[in-house]
Amino acid sequence: MSAAAFELKRNSIIASQIAAAVKSGRVVHAYAFIGGSPEDRNSLALWLASYMLCRDPGDGPCGSCISCQKIAHGNHEDVIFVRKPEDRESIVRTQILELIDRLSFKPFGSRYVAVIEDAQLMNAASQNKLLKTLEEPVSDAVMILLADSSEGLLPTVLSRCSCFYLQDAEAEFGSQAASIADQFISLVAANAPFYRKKAAIMPVLEDKDDARAKTAEFLDALEQKLEAMLTQDSGKMDAALCEKLINTVKQAETSRKYIKQLHSAAYTLKQFCLRV
Ligand SMILES: [Zn+2]
Repeated sequence: MSAAAFELKRNSIIASQIAAAVKSGRVVHAYAFIGGSPEDRNSLALWLASYMLCRDPGDGPCGSCISCQKIAHGNHEDVIFVRKPEDRESIVRTQILELIDRLSFKPFGSRYVAVIEDAQLMNAASQNKLLKTLEEPVSDAVMILLADSSEGLLPTVLSRCSCFYLQDAEAEFGSQAASIADQFISLVAANAPFYRKKAAIMPVLEDKDDARAKTAEFLDALEQKLEAMLTQDSGKMDAALCEKLINTVKQAETSRKYIKQLHSAAYTLKQFCLRV
């Protein structure tokens, strides 16, 4: 992540999780980046495409090899974009058929990376067509689905993807979520026991009708604060603490996924406290 073209302003922790997986050879065939702003989703997709196709990758794409340069200039032969046509309401089946057809040819380099922007705008026919490819992945292609929310995507499609939920852009949090997040971070840093962490987040669950929304807000606030801490101070931070905070981010993301899948807020938060 050294070169300026690949500096991620946000979501650097998601990127480092993906990087760790890619580095250890655990590349999946499909990713879904959900939420955040369109720019955030796009830059994360370009970062990942660059990383997977980079000629000299480290902890991220090198930013200067021919492959990274081509992606930065938008003219890499193996990076395919699928976008909703301006005169249509949705991404139509023919676009997905064209994509599948293209993937049946050998890539110029090691693999294709196909980015589907606004994937939630694929109609059901397109999604079902795509599903076949996700179920029987072409070995030299990686799909990246970008969507503003998971609502328009079929559960069967989502279940085939490694999903990452991005933070809402410029989110402003209620003072309760923000102060509980601050308190929670201090408890994690101090190795506080489970019951103290759980007690700290109880106010989130107070209003039963609103518990899921409040939990999501707390997790967002927590993650935003942690991301800021880790980007600004990780150089000076004690390695054990840094690892603990990264794990908290990871667990917060899993919990956010549970909340979106409509698990109970109380159960999700209990699991969360047990794992951080
Ligand atoms: Zn490179």
